[in-house]
Amino acid sequence: MSTVPELFSSMVFSDGVMRDKLPKDVYKQLKKTIQTGERLNTDVANAVASAMKEWALEKGATHFTHWFQPMTGITAEKHDSFIEPDGDGRVIMQFTGKNLIQGEPDASSFPSGGLRATFEARGYTAWDPTSPAFIKEDTLVIPTAFCSYGGEVLDKKTPLLRSMQVLSKQALRILRLFGNEDAKSVATTVGPEQEYFLVDQELFDQRPDLILTGRTLFGAKPPKGQELEDHYFGVIKTRVKAFMVDLDEELWQLGIMSKTEHNEVAPAQHEIAPIFTTTNVACDQNQLTMEILKKVAARHGLACLLHEKPFAGVNGSGKHNNWSMATDLGENLLEPGKSPQENLQFLLFLVAVIRAVDVYADLLRVSSATAGNDHRLGANEAPPAIVSIFLGTQLSDVLDAFADGKTYVNPGQVLLDTSVKVLPPLPKDNTDRNRTSPFAFTGNKFEFRAMGSAQSISCTNMILNTAVAEILQEFADQLEGAADFYGEVQKLIVETYKAHKRIVFNGNSYSTEWPAEAAARGLHNYRTTPETIPHYTDPQNVALLSKHKVLTEVEIESRTEVLLENYVKVLQIEAQTMISMAKTDILPAAVAYSETLVRTALDKKALSDKISTKYEEDLTARISNLTEALYGDVIALEEAVLASRELESSEDAAKFIGEVVVERMNVLRENADTLETLVSTEFWPYPTYSDLLFRV
Ligand code: ADP
Ligand code: MG
Repeated sequence: MSTVPELFSSMVFSDGVMRDKLPKDVYKQLKKTIQTGERLNTDVANAVASAMKEWALEKGATHFTHWFQPMTGITAEKHDSFIEPDGDGRVIMQFTGKNLIQGEPDASSFPSGGLRATFEARGYTAWDPTSPAFIKEDTLVIPTAFCSYGGEVLDKKTPLLRSMQVLSKQALRILRLFGNEDAKSVATTVGPEQEYFLVDQELFDQRPDLILTGRTLFGAKPPKGQELEDHYFGVIKTRVKAFMVDLDEELWQLGIMSKTEHNEVAPAQHEIAPIFTTTNVACDQNQLTMEILKKVAARHGLACLLHEKPFAGVNGSGKHNNWSMATDLGENLLEPGKSPQENLQFLLFLVAVIRAVDVYADLLRVSSATAGNDHRLGANEAPPAIVSIFLGTQLSDVLDAFADGKTYVNPGQVLLDTSVKVLPPLPKDNTDRNRTSPFAFTGNKFEFRAMGSAQSISCTNMILNTAVAEILQEFADQLEGAADFYGEVQKLIVETYKAHKRIVFNGNSYSTEWPAEAAARGLHNYRTTPETIPHYTDPQNVALLSKHKVLTEVEIESRTEVLLENYVKVLQIEAQTMISMAKTDILPAAVAYSETLVRTALDKKALSDKISTKYEEDLTARISNLTEALYGDVIALEEAVLASRELESSEDAAKFIGEVVVERMNVLRENADTLETLVSTEFWPYPTYSDLLFRV
């Protein structure tokens, strides 16, 4: 067996491999292209393709694919083999620069939110040379962006890449003002923590709801849930441990720095966190991680559930998007520095993020709104749908003192001096921990915790990057040409903080008082996806994204449409699955069981009228009442689903579903779950929550 360092990245056409395999001048030109974002010239592309092919063949690859991220939020790939006829009836393995740079998947079936009707039908994929190629299952995988021939963006990656460029440009302007002449670019960095559940595959296969929707649509509360809190950081079970070892190996081979793995709060729930990296790479790697989690689980007889709420009454799964900005020389711009000047720079970037999040809170909320995530945000689970920022008391004190025209030194000690020269060292890494805030500062990065576990992280980061870039641009415009630069910076920090303090909340975001207080502060609380998504096209949001050429107005409209359509489809499938499970499994099971009860009662009576049949009769009555109610619920839900299909606009359909269909699903579920507690397990058609949660 190879050692971890040998294994690590062994399936990646990494920078190191490129340096080894490419002629020096080609390597240099490629690096330059990557840095400047220009188009690759044909000679360089051919040389890179040829080296890539040789490397891939050595590793046993037979196919290649342009791997992209359509608006479905998952990844797509179409495989082509390397073979080309050699003219003598044999084949050679061929892969050209053209194959590398551009592909043309038949993409007409991907959702486009009406874009494709308006524009070109065909789309093409273009290599993203900033994310390395890799080998997965004998296929050379080339990370790409996906556009239409008219130039409209059809994927989640292109806008993310654009937002990174915008941020780099504006952040550099600020750094230059602080005298930094060395940094050539600024990238945003992300480390996504991923939660998931593992259940036994055989049990999974017996549940149509898990198979079709990824979550349980029925299931009575088990006698034991997560109340003992004995699972969090608990000892990892042997079978799960074997899975994790295997998982790490797969991830490491692909250059994914899987670092932390532990049990989560809920039984059968786990978390995996990689070491952070550049945002577009982090995004690709998170997509891969989700795919590999499922694949490796299957090898161990397990099913990996990435859904945000697989089990009612048990904690759901999220994704924590840890985010920061760093120069190409490795300086983290959200790391408090040593000197007063460094700290002013830190505070300026910090308040830029605060202002960005306050002004564009709706957009961030949009980026976390999905049917699955509605069970977490807006329900009584972490974090709430209200976007707010946790800074920690120390950092808040620093900014408060600053805003009062004082300089903060230590808790309890405040100097009456606003001169920059005495700005003291800032607290480092000792922010108090708060697990309830949707957007928390954690010492040298922000952690956006509202994302759903199954979501792509691209949209959130595209929005964060662009919003922060916009504010940095405002700042740079104001600071360039300032006579007293440091004085002006100080003023800007104070003004910005004062103007946006309402978004800072260090308290318990789960408390019942917070929604009222947030409302008083003017913060929004969009609880559901249908309520949230239409804000994507609010004038301010369109202005932001189109100004920075991240998305055009038409592209935003198409994305809004895709998101609403997705919500409608997911809920319709869930409702339809419930109806079918109730009709063909649950009701028949209840009827069959009452039949045995009735027969027993009759047999007893035939034997002697002295034998009591109270139990059989009572239970039969209760089950009959419930089956009747359930039957009514099924009809009511069927009607609601039909009515939702009549609505033409996705927005109307989504609103109707959010209000009517969801409510009827809840009623139906409640009656079915009560039946589950009455019907003999022998008759009940599905594995129970106890089976699913405790039998791995
Ligand atoms: P927690 O205390 O929330 O469990 P950690 O401090 O271990 O978290 O970090 C969580 C994630 O944040 C990891 O993926 C880590 O790599 C990432 N992270 C750390 N520093 C940065 C940074 N500067 N930018 C982006 N992500 C970061
Ligand atoms: Mg965390």
